[in-house]
Amino acid sequence: MSITDAPARAARSGRCLCGSISYQYTGEPDAVIVCHCGHCQRHTGSAFSVNVLVPRDRIEITGTPKSYQTTGAENGNLRDRLFCRDCGTPILTVLHERPDTVIVKAGTLDDPRGLECSAEVWWRRAQDWIEPHPNRPRFEGDAG
Ligand SMILES: [Zn+2]
Ligand SMILES: [Zn+2]
Repeated sequence: MSITDAPARAARSGRCLCGSISYQYTGEPDAVIVCHCGHCQRHTGSAFSVNVLVPRDRIEITGTPKSYQTTGAENGNLRDRLFCRDCGTPILTVLHERPDTVIVKAGTLDDPRGLECSAEVWWRRAQDWIEPHPNRPRFEGDAG
């Protein structure tokens, strides 16, 4: 599918800090999940990651990211964490139990405006200064 003819809002693009890796996807994501798990915190060097779930057949990736595989500490699931080998930006994740989905790190989007967060997961790992959102679904562990 070509995104050239699509209306501006029907496609989003993003890239790593140096631009070696870029991507574009069409349509709305399946979900936008804030993850507070320990691996997301360490991988991003931040308090949580904002994960945009995009069907694999709607995303086009340019460049060759390096991959680091992690095993979920509590569920044992494998994740391929893809990052730029030049600038180190974490950019994409693939869950082995969900191979038809590519997870985009929202901080790498060129324009993240208008994303709607669907839920927060691994709340029990959240850094203790983070205030719960009043009406966003929250799960202590995986969304299940
Ligand atoms: Zn880069
Ligand atoms: Zn996580």
